[in-house]
Amino acid sequence: MDRQQDYVLRTIEDRDVRFVRLWFTDVIGTLKSVALSPAEVENAFTEGLGFDGSSIDGYTRISESDMLLQPDPSTFQILPWRGDQGQSSRMFCDVLTPDGRPAPADPRHVLRRVLDRAADRGFTCFTHPEIEFYLLQSDQPGPDGEPVPVDRAGYFDNVPGSDAADFRRDAVSLLEGMGISVEFSHHENGPGQNEIDLRAADALTTADNVMTFRTVVKEVAAAQGTYATFMPKPFSEHPGSGMHTHISLFEGDSNAFYDPADEFRLSVTGRRFIAGLLRHSVEISAVTHQFVNSYKRLWGGGEAPSYVSWGHNNRSALVRVPLYKPDKAGSARIEYRGIDASANPYLAYALLLAAGLKGIEEGYELPESAAEDVSALTTHERRVLGHVPLPGTLHDALRAAEESEFVASVLGEHVFDALLRNKRQEWDDYRVEVTPYELRRYLSGL
Ligand code: GLN
Ligand code: MG
Ligand code: MG
Ligand code: MG
Repeated sequence: MDRQQDYVLRTIEDRDVRFVRLWFTDVIGTLKSVALSPAEVENAFTEGLGFDGSSIDGYTRISESDMLLQPDPSTFQILPWRGDQGQSSRMFCDVLTPDGRPAPADPRHVLRRVLDRAADRGFTCFTHPEIEFYLLQSDQPGPDGEPVPVDRAGYFDNVPGSDAADFRRDAVSLLEGMGISVEFSHHENGPGQNEIDLRAADALTTADNVMTFRTVVKEVAAAQGTYATFMPKPFSEHPGSGMHTHISLFEGDSNAFYDPADEFRLSVTGRRFIAGLLRHSVEISAVTHQFVNSYKRLWGGGEAPSYVSWGHNNRSALVRVPLYKPDKAGSARIEYRGIDASANPYLAYALLLAAGLKGIEEGYELPESAAEDVSALTTHERRVLGHVPLPGTLHDALRAAEESEFVASVLGEHVFDALLRNKRQEWDDYRVEVTPYELRRYLSGL
């Protein structure tokens, strides 16, 4: 038993914790949970908890379905929404094969592998997400077939006594109660759309925090009789929900993206990192935008990026370099605006960081920044400036991913195959579906 494991066992006893949930995710990023009785926790630490991986999306083939959950004691938290009596708690787990090696299907392991590689080069990776989501009256569409938002407010609106304001207060206090620091929260552009921004943490902690965040937000909404969705684009005519992620690399105490001598205070390392993000953005899209619906966000306006470009204060850019104050060297960072609110944070962060690191390792040259609204340029102008489009559909994204050695090597063969199989199926289902749009458009006219 190490010190952290000891601490968990003592806390369980002192706080009279009745349930310990073990959390992990499947390849798509669905949270999986199994509840343990406190008496079993010590055993789970020493031997792992066995489960049948063949029933989890992307895990094993039937012939090798035994897997072990190894709880990570540093992630132990009481679940504050479960009330004071008979408390519940949770730990994130690493997934192991029966012989104790990391399971190749575990998304948390995919991210760990990239972070270890970064650490070998002396880098610690920090991320913080801005998470957008819609608060709806229920998970069912209204009479007109559209979801029904809880309000009609817009960007930064302060609506006294509103559901959304109560919602953000409750959600932020629960998150803080679980050790997840929140930087900002506000109403977003769409009706019922909200955003909560987390503070920077190392990338593995952030990915865990995103999983916790989604659960907390859904729990608070349910407690208030509403429904929260991270669907990338629930309304055709309102903005989609992004998960812009700010990234910085540190070498010891110093921010590797910072250079006071540069016009934009961006170091060569920072430039190469951005070049890596740009160059690999199309082939990683099947992970950063993993659903059929994700492409409606990318191409449906509402300040979502559609083209590969970077800029300083340019909200159509895929990568933005926020203008930070010169005395704030530590806050130098890069914002990736492509990723949407429903991405698997472990796999998406693994690919983003690996893309940036590849840019550094191979000395990629950063193209010119995009000064203007890239969507407003002509196709010809965009081509001349090198602003290639992001994939138009999940199908396009899959074609790019399938041919990518980079994506295969970062995800590992197992996750790569499982993910592509799952996503191909999704596309095949979608492409034969006759949609309400087609009935509206064609039925009476043809
Ligand atoms: N909702 C937009 C997106 O999908 C972002 C809007 C914003 O925060 N500026 O990315
Ligand atoms: Mg924001
Ligand atoms: Mg926003
Ligand atoms: Mg942003």
